[in-house]
Amino acid sequence: MRDFFNNHSSSFAHRSTKELKQLVRLFRLMSSPRISKLGIQLMKRFGHIKFPGFQTIQRLLFYPFYAGTTLQESESTVASLSNYGVYSYLNYAIEDSSTESEFDKNCEMVQNLIIHAAKTNNIPFSVCKPTSFGHKHLFQKINAKHSLSAEEQVSWKRIIDRFRCCCQIALQHGVALLVDAEEYSMQIATDQVVMDLMREFNISKAVVYNTVQLYLVDGNRRLKQMHNIATKEGFYLGLKLVRGAYMEKERKIAQKHGLFSPICASKSETDKSYYAAVDYCFKHLVNIAVVLGSHNEESMVQAINLMDQYEIKPNDDRIWFSQLLGMSDYISFVLADKRYNVVKFVPFGPMDKLIPYLARRAEENTAIAGQTTRELMRLRGELKRRALANGQ
Ligand SMILES: Cc1cc2nc3c(=O)[nH]c(=O)nc-3n(C[C@H](O)[C@H](O)[C@H](O)COP(=O)(O)OP(=O)(O)OC[C@H]3O[C@@H](n4cnc5c(N)ncnc54)[C@H](O)[C@@H]3O)c2cc1C
Repeated sequence: MRDFFNNHSSSFAHRSTKELKQLVRLFRLMSSPRISKLGIQLMKRFGHIKFPGFQTIQRLLFYPFYAGTTLQESESTVASLSNYGVYSYLNYAIEDSSTESEFDKNCEMVQNLIIHAAKTNNIPFSVCKPTSFGHKHLFQKINAKHSLSAEEQVSWKRIIDRFRCCCQIALQHGVALLVDAEEYSMQIATDQVVMDLMREFNISKAVVYNTVQLYLVDGNRRLKQMHNIATKEGFYLGLKLVRGAYMEKERKIAQKHGLFSPICASKSETDKSYYAAVDYCFKHLVNIAVVLGSHNEESMVQAINLMDQYEIKPNDDRIWFSQLLGMSDYISFVLADKRYNVVKFVPFGPMDKLIPYLARRAEENTAIAGQTTRELMRLRGELKRRALANGQ
């Protein structure tokens, strides 16, 4: 199993050799912390400004990580992935919304994307983010068990209505809806909302999925608690398992308020916690469906080993593997080639709206030790394999 992802012709089947060379240049740039940091700063500062030519440069730099500026443009990426057995879910990039009309628009967009997904066979999931439906401070207040003012109660009801509308459309159209996890300070409130939605919509299968961040010390405890409730009340538990994307921010918040950090003390503890969650879910597939959102090669191999051990078929529709577009493609494509269920997170939207998302991807690639090196090694390996195959 160690060499599961090594040297497969399927790893980068969707990329031309020219594209692979471009990717090597891009990842090399990202592997230099200085250049990367400067680029990210510039992008965050000036990314929204429409300098002539600047957006073209951004497009060239970031094309592997997004599918286009419109839904129509993203269709070719979805089709190209599906040629290799890789499914997609589309996300319209919106990072910061603050008005009720923006929240309504976001909700409308999620509904449109669910309807769009239902028209193709290649998009089994849709996705939404709690803060795209309402103010973060409302989630935080509920989280901290503070009471809401009359006006806030109206806003909170609107948030629930937005979620319910999307879930209803998802159920009607046979598309599953993944709810992202964000900051810890709003997670208990989000869990409560999503559990209520599962109670209502996950009666005969998982339509709504909550996300559990396993870098959280209490991640596995909460997961088991949710599962106990689902078992007791007789509904299906949909879960996306991720390590978690807000580590630095959470640590800073905890430090600022003199609190214990909610994050595992070390990377290896997070890894153990992730493995334990995968193992738990696989043991309880009778009423759990799970999406493994990770670029970690070892976690993916561990998951495959567990599937073998528990005699779960690769294409069991209760287990999906998921990576972001442009990241760890070799994992997605090899898994799909071996008949595992794989779904790529495919963002699209106007470049100025995509900037925060792309900046986070660039930061992640720079910050995560080994991620860029790993990508580079795989890309170079594939170029070498192709050269040898062509007798060069
Ligand atoms: C399809 C998909 C959907 C996602 N959805 C969400 C989401 O809804 N919410 C969300 O928060 N994130 C989400 N993420 C991001 C995810 O949480 C991770 O940040 C990212 O995938 C990197 O983790 P990894 O498992 O790929 O692998 P790795 O590269 O092995 O792990 C890196 C991660 O390990 C953890 N870590 C690193 N160093 C330490 C340390 N010193 N101590 C403790 N822990 C450490 C951090 O979580 C870090 O992000 C998603 C990722 C994917 C692929």
